[in-house]
Amino acid sequence: MKTTHNFNAGPCVLPKQAIESTIDAMRNFDNTGVGLLEISHRTPGWERIMKETEGFWRELLDIPEGYKVLFLGGGASTQFFCVAANLLNKKAAYLQTGVWAKKAAKEARYYGEVEIVGSSEDRNYSYIPKGYTIPKDADYFHITTNNTIYGTEIKTDMDSPITLVADMSSDIMSRPVDVKKYGLIYGGAQKNVGPAGVTFVIVREDILGKVERKLQTMVDYRTHIAESSMFNTPPVASIFVMHETLKWLKELGGLKEMHRINNEKAQLLYNEIDRNPLFVGTAEKEDRSIMNICFVMSEGHKEKEADFMAYAKECGMVGIKGHRSVGGFRASVYNACPVESVKALVACMQEFERRSK
Ligand SMILES: *Cc1c(COP(=O)(O)O)cnc(C)c1O
Repeated sequence: MKTTHNFNAGPCVLPKQAIESTIDAMRNFDNTGVGLLEISHRTPGWERIMKETEGFWRELLDIPEGYKVLFLGGGASTQFFCVAANLLNKKAAYLQTGVWAKKAAKEARYYGEVEIVGSSEDRNYSYIPKGYTIPKDADYFHITTNNTIYGTEIKTDMDSPITLVADMSSDIMSRPVDVKKYGLIYGGAQKNVGPAGVTFVIVREDILGKVERKLQTMVDYRTHIAESSMFNTPPVASIFVMHETLKWLKELGGLKEMHRINNEKAQLLYNEIDRNPLFVGTAEKEDRSIMNICFVMSEGHKEKEADFMAYAKECGMVGIKGHRSVGGFRASVYNACPVESVKALVACMQEFERRSK
């Protein structure tokens, strides 16, 4: 098989070790003689995996007392309305940094008033709005920390006068996070902590139970807290891969080390984008994401786009086509993307420059 470098935006590259151990478990889970896809989620071996997975989350992110960690189905998109159903009484504030943020706000409007406190839609979400005011009379303030499509990121944990809610689908576990600054953190696992099919929710328990409306059983976070994410059948296989992915992350040295490596990867690629006259980055420099790196052909070289795409494919690059709303290229360099893949992409860009002369 030819060497490939996987830059898919999600689902995306996973640690090799996680894939290998999952294949083994698919055949024979926990020495039961039964495969992972065939076990009952009520077996003791599975309960241990659930506990250990939660343990990895608590340890890696240093999650304080009073917070619960849930593993649910439905994707981040389901959380768009679950968050609002559980937390929105009258009004919520949203920072509109991309279409995911816009979709989250749209779902919140089913439950109450939504104030968009800032938006970067005017320049196709190429920057993070600044200088906005968080309304103190809102029930919560919702942010999207990493904007997967546009390659912008809120890289620090902000202070908010009201409950801070964050969609961290595409940068969770890429850096240490000060969890106590947030009331709720959620995301789909398929960008940085596992495959599609499982959604994580980290919630400070005391913010729940304050809305006046009646909640459907499955929508109410308290249902899942009471049953340790096993009120209904959990996405067993997806959670297992997440378990193996987090085990890898812990063995690698945890989030400080991961953050160092992620910064190094991002820097390598941004340096080349800034140096190479054929390419230009699309995100505002100070807001550049370390997870999704977006770039296009520079002025005067636009016609080379298809040629570079073809050459990159020849070099083994997979998934570098930019999202249709941005165009050009996007390299998603999530945790499991090896630094060797980034170096190979840089070398490919340099060779393309030489051949273009
Ligand atoms: C991918 C993504 C989503 C959507 O996640 P699903 O699990 O597919 O619903 C939401 N927010 C962000 C930031 C994403 O990157």
